[in-house]
Amino acid sequence: MKAARVAALVALVATAAGVGGVDARSHLGGRKGGAGQATDPKQDLAAEPRMVIRPSGLVPVFPSGVKCPDVASAYGATTRYDGSRRPMDRFGGLHGGIDITLDEGTPLRALAGGTVISAGSAGMFTGNFLWLQHSPDDTGLPFWVYAKYQHFQDTSAVTIGQTVKAGDVVGLSGRTGTEGRHYGATGYPHLHLTTFAGPSDTWKRRDSSVQSPGAKIFDPMALYVPDLRDVDDVDRLTKDQKKVTIPYAAEDGTVHPAGARLVWPVACKRR
Ligand SMILES: [Zn+2]
Repeated sequence: MKAARVAALVALVATAAGVGGVDARSHLGGRKGGAGQATDPKQDLAAEPRMVIRPSGLVPVFPSGVKCPDVASAYGATTRYDGSRRPMDRFGGLHGGIDITLDEGTPLRALAGGTVISAGSAGMFTGNFLWLQHSPDDTGLPFWVYAKYQHFQDTSAVTIGQTVKAGDVVGLSGRTGTEGRHYGATGYPHLHLTTFAGPSDTWKRRDSSVQSPGAKIFDPMALYVPDLRDVDDVDRLTKDQKKVTIPYAAEDGTVHPAGARLVWPVACKRR
């Protein structure tokens, strides 16, 4: 009984990790269609639906006096930044993270203190990537956060095992993994950010994914909801509560408001 539960958990995590590279179709290997189509019993369990990506309705509100790069394609969006429809053959065509359109070479910032747990280069849809692990002490949230940044110019700014503070530069934005296919030869320079919430600091690396038992994908915007206890709680917020004021790092790395433990992954500039 216990062993079966563990197996189910592992399978669930493996599937969630596939979503971690939601822009990275290669991670799904030969398995097609995501939820519901698997015939292997373990994969049936894996298809249980922590994987289902639901739009959260969370909207960023940036502080007055500064200009912050906005979300170009929201978590759960059916469209890309350019308004085109995402392909329906995966996860119902829903976006598994947020996209922020950026000039190539824009410094990307650690959204909280944490540790670099994986970095490397993958192919189409992922490009150069980085994973940060954020403890409850880092964020003030009652769960562990695993954040994947994609499409860096390169990942030479950090080393695996390195610790970072909120707002530290972790690399420069780029368009790796976006050239070809929909975005054409020039690609689409942006940050794609995917986040998972998990009960523990246990994780393992699998190609460009990181798997943590029991972790579930969620809208990175939820990080900025005050006093969030569980990522599923965003479903119960009122429309007003879904307007989330964004703490940020300025270009000099200072955090605003002072003491904020979570910041926007790109610096805001004074107007
Ligand atoms: Zn994206």
